[in-house]
Amino acid sequence: MRCLFCKADSSGSKSREHIVPESFGNSDHVLGPGIVCDGCNNYIAREVEKPILDSLYFRERRFSATIPNKRGRVIPLEGLHLQSRTRVQNHADDLTGEGVSIGAHPDADEARFIKSLLGDWSHTLIFPMAVAPENRALARFVGKVGLEALAHRLIQANLSHEELVDKSELDALRSFVRRGSGPRHWTIARRQLYLPDKVFFDGKDHYQMLHEFEIFFRPVDEVNQLYECYVSLVLFGEEFVLNLGRPEL
Ligand SMILES: [Zn+2]
Repeated sequence: MRCLFCKADSSGSKSREHIVPESFGNSDHVLGPGIVCDGCNNYIAREVEKPILDSLYFRERRFSATIPNKRGRVIPLEGLHLQSRTRVQNHADDLTGEGVSIGAHPDADEARFIKSLLGDWSHTLIFPMAVAPENRALARFVGKVGLEALAHRLIQANLSHEELVDKSELDALRSFVRRGSGPRHWTIARRQLYLPDKVFFDGKDHYQMLHEFEIFFRPVDEVNQLYECYVSLVLFGEEFVLNLGRPEL
């Protein structure tokens, strides 16, 4: 078996690859061992997924949706209480999303924080406004999801992902994701499809959509059967679209 990213023999690899990271609430869409080799799996977790998961933008969204990380903890947001000049943390009290609590951080400042709260009627809490991660980090992440989603689609159709390993059309994106090499800018289209907390109803159950993804083919030259391949990734209602074949949409 060969790795989707580095093309090396991956027969001995053991790790399973989450197409969308677990910390975005994904437990269903997983590639089996060897589709992505252990080395690439490690590299991608560290260099491609972590910068996105750790970005304030997605931490805020994960917090709002009370999605725990791999260790089962919802990462708090950090802010400032203006009157006491205390750094504070906004904690999700439980995983039901029913409440949040605010406390001083570090705990040693709690007394000063509370004293200020008791002494005044009016208070201001400041939380930094999150802007989306820069293009390159985001594009590498969406590109990774795209390549893996395409492999997933083949496997679901009882085909081998190795067909993709030999596709030179995917090499530019492969090395962009795996080595950070290639163009400075890989275009992404973004739009809010639905609100992050929108509740869907399928006739039986109510549910929220944390993520979804799909692969699309757009005919470029139907006579010669040439297609462009796009991935659409939706996280918390926001859609990110990327062309798997070249950096332009
Ligand atoms: Zn590899």
